[in-house]
Amino acid sequence: MNWELSSATEHRCPCGQGGYTVRIFVDDWKRAEEQWEMNCPKCKRKYLLHSHTDAKSGMPLQSNRWVKRETLSRVFRVEAQVAKARMNVVNLATSRYETKWLAYFKEAKSKKAAWQRLTDGGRRFPSLAAFYCHTAKMDLEAYLLEQFNFDNLPIIVEKVGGGDRELKKQLGEVKELDLKLQISKTQLLKDGFH
Ligand SMILES: [Zn+2]
Repeated sequence: MNWELSSATEHRCPCGQGGYTVRIFVDDWKRAEEQWEMNCPKCKRKYLLHSHTDAKSGMPLQSNRWVKRETLSRVFRVEAQVAKARMNVVNLATSRYETKWLAYFKEAKSKKAAWQRLTDGGRRFPSLAAFYCHTAKMDLEAYLLEQFNFDNLPIIVEKVGGGDRELKKQLGEVKELDLKLQISKTQLLKDGFH
């Protein structure tokens, strides 16, 4: 693929003493790509380029901005905390309820009855058609083990965990951390310079 420089514009940097260059490259199919380069040594030490993809509006929209290194580190730190907390709660749930979870479905008389248990009679995903499709491709037990995941933990706690308070508390903590992460990500974009 041939990328050709189509334009280069200079912009003022965050500290105001220098600038950064935005180059736009276009390929044979008229696809465009931006390249940002910081020219100010002071801002180069303080800022990193951050690309944000917003998929909310259907078409993924990418936007670039300069963000402070320490703000980005904070986001990464919280992200790691969330990942660790999620893993811990899944591990705890696995050690306590994985066997019970499988047994709960073994009691079901048919595949359809297993699906009804999994979805509370169709109140949740997957649809019956999707369930049949998944379990035609893989063993039912393997599928159910796959369903023993973080997103299904509230269901697992309710169905086979007897409302396990410790797990519920940990899930609440993950939720709080997740919220903290969303806030720090929003802050990162808000403070970003462009
Ligand atoms: Zn600067």
